[in-house]
Amino acid sequence: MRIDISTIRDTKGASIEVELEGSSGQMAIAGTTLRSVAPVRVSAKATCTGHNTILVQGNAKVKLEAECHRCLRKFAFDVDAEFQEQYCKASQGSSSRLGYEQDEVLTYSGDFVDISTEVNSQLALSLPIQLVCSDKCRGLCPVCGKNLNDGECACTNETGDIRLAPIAQLYLTQDKDEF
Ligand SMILES: [Zn+2]
Ligand SMILES: [Zn+2]
Repeated sequence: MRIDISTIRDTKGASIEVELEGSSGQMAIAGTTLRSVAPVRVSAKATCTGHNTILVQGNAKVKLEAECHRCLRKFAFDVDAEFQEQYCKASQGSSSRLGYEQDEVLTYSGDFVDISTEVNSQLALSLPIQLVCSDKCRGLCPVCGKNLNDGECACTNETGDIRLAPIAQLYLTQDKDEF
């Protein structure tokens, strides 16, 4: 994902707005690799702030697919991330200046600013902590393995503690009163 800054890089205050599309890097949550089902879309604004520095602000969106940790079904979800980075023109040639400072400053060279790395890392930071298809996902029955989102299974009542039934009823009634 590269932004062509040839028209703004020499004019302080000049800016350009772009829409970009690109592939996402590999992302993972708790060891689960996520597959993107649509390209990463970026809307960004690049501004020349003088002193060979380009400020890039924007947002990135990607649609990913994963397996729900509770019911093991595949589901797709969107990830949105905002980002803001400054890129300095890379110093040419002189390897003597390539100290540890180089790690902290993002650079560009020529007519393009490449924002792929920052976009991917911001998206990675915006991933959900838990991979569940819905807050209300009921998961699988531990006894028969049926997906309880599809309805109750036959064994639910048999394994449930009958003495707790009246309490469960009570909770249900209270819930109704609240709404
Ligand atoms: Zn689920
Ligand atoms: Zn069951």
